[in-house]
Amino acid sequence: MTTPIDTYRHKGLRLKMVERLRHDGFTDEAVLRAIEEVPRHFFIDSAFDEAAYDDRAFPIGCDQTISHPSTVAMQTHLLDLQPRMKVLEIGTGSGYQTAILCRLGAKVFTIERQKPLFLQARTLLDHLHLRARCFLGDGYRGLTEVDYAPFDRILVTCGAPEIPPALMAQLKQGGIMVIPIGERQQEMLRITKNGSTEADWQVERFGTYNFVPMLDGRQMH
Ligand code: SAH
Repeated sequence: MTTPIDTYRHKGLRLKMVERLRHDGFTDEAVLRAIEEVPRHFFIDSAFDEAAYDDRAFPIGCDQTISHPSTVAMQTHLLDLQPRMKVLEIGTGSGYQTAILCRLGAKVFTIERQKPLFLQARTLLDHLHLRARCFLGDGYRGLTEVDYAPFDRILVTCGAPEIPPALMAQLKQGGIMVIPIGERQQEMLRITKNGSTEADWQVERFGTYNFVPMLDGRQMH
């Protein structure tokens, strides 16, 4: 794979995107810095190069889309990450959100169910020397291949029909999960696991979003 080039023009467009996020009231400087550092155009088809720094979703193949930068900013902010935390991401997709988590110093484990996306994201993240552990599998069941649970943080980047019990089980006590819940539209939830039963979970709500759906099983083609 030849690594794409990050030109001054791309850097300039990226700075403008960060300024727009600030202007819209986003104040998490650590997240803004990570967004400024990661070349989003590497993660989408070069046909969309000029628009890569607009607040838009783009097709990434397999009927899937890269999330809007503003959504990535919001979900990352809600995670309240500290460096070296163990983070599980469900829905690697292009790998862009994964890269942002890596830049924030997290130890990232990410699961994708579509094999072509899994392979492409893993190759690109390797090229960028971002050390996420990528897995092909069904994220509804969490990470079953290797025994890395429990996680400090879990981030779901597809719309889940309900809170997957396996993911709650793999979240540390005191840990945070950010997950969009709903079928056609989703409500963004932040769940803090303050105890082992559901009655102990603190659930906060952060508005409506449109994600691609969380689907069953592993898709090999
Ligand atoms: N974070 C990604 C968002 C991609 S869209 C990015 O920044 O590009 C959501 C992704 O979730 C899609 O790639 C889709 O294939 C994946 N997905 C859907 N259901 C899944 C499941 N059960 N397990 C793992 N990945 C899933």
